[in-house]
Amino acid sequence: MTAHIVQFSGGIGSFAAAVRVAARHGTDNLTLLIADTGIEDPDLWRFAADTSRLLGVPLTKVADGRTPWQVFHDKKFLGNDRLAPCTMVLKQIPCRSWMEKHAYPADTLVYIGIEPTPRDKARIPAIARNWKPWQTRFPLCSKWEPPLTKAQLLQEARTLGVEPPRLYDMGFAHNNCGGTCVRAGMRQWRHLLDVMPDRYAYAEAQEEDLRRLLGPVTILRQRRNRVSRPLPLAELRRSHESAPTLPAV
Ligand code: SF4
Repeated sequence: MTAHIVQFSGGIGSFAAAVRVAARHGTDNLTLLIADTGIEDPDLWRFAADTSRLLGVPLTKVADGRTPWQVFHDKKFLGNDRLAPCTMVLKQIPCRSWMEKHAYPADTLVYIGIEPTPRDKARIPAIARNWKPWQTRFPLCSKWEPPLTKAQLLQEARTLGVEPPRLYDMGFAHNNCGGTCVRAGMRQWRHLLDVMPDRYAYAEAQEEDLRRLLGPVTILRQRRNRVSRPLPLAELRRSHESAPTLPAV
């Protein structure tokens, strides 16, 4: 009997993937595997619990136990939009460890809720490679699936009686790490400052701590006239507070 493991991130794409797998294969051999990074928005867990209830499948939660900030301290490296070791440490390794104990590659399929945008679809080969020896499937990008937009996926969840995670309504493109993903660009950090200043302040303090420990490292870089320079969150905040309509760079 094939095991169907949905890599459930708490995002709308993985929700839609789980719904499609359940409709096609039933839920007897369905697992919703989710990694806890320790800094998720609390509403992600409400959404995850609602999804679990909808499908009648318990969440299988794995956790390294650290947050991205603790990982950056331990690795003496601040994650950024080019390289983020937190994904590997907090998501990939715990999920793979669970898979090694519970899922035989020969009779397991792993489903990932990649959305059918050109940018996201370009990530499929690397994701499939990283999951080997397990076989991967991307239900939202299958040739039998109409390419739905994020808005349509969010509406699908509402139609099924599950309110999507609040971060989408708050203007975030992704529901990950509570809106403080280090791979997000300047635009998202400015938006975070506008809508969740306390969360921004916490991230800024964490970055300052790491700068004291590691030197002039930053999450963001500012690129102007082909010159790139480190841009601390403190500086971005000051510039945004003094000119909040500055366009994203
Ligand atoms: S969502 Fe962003 S901050 Fe969170 S673990 Fe992944 S890369 Fe790191």
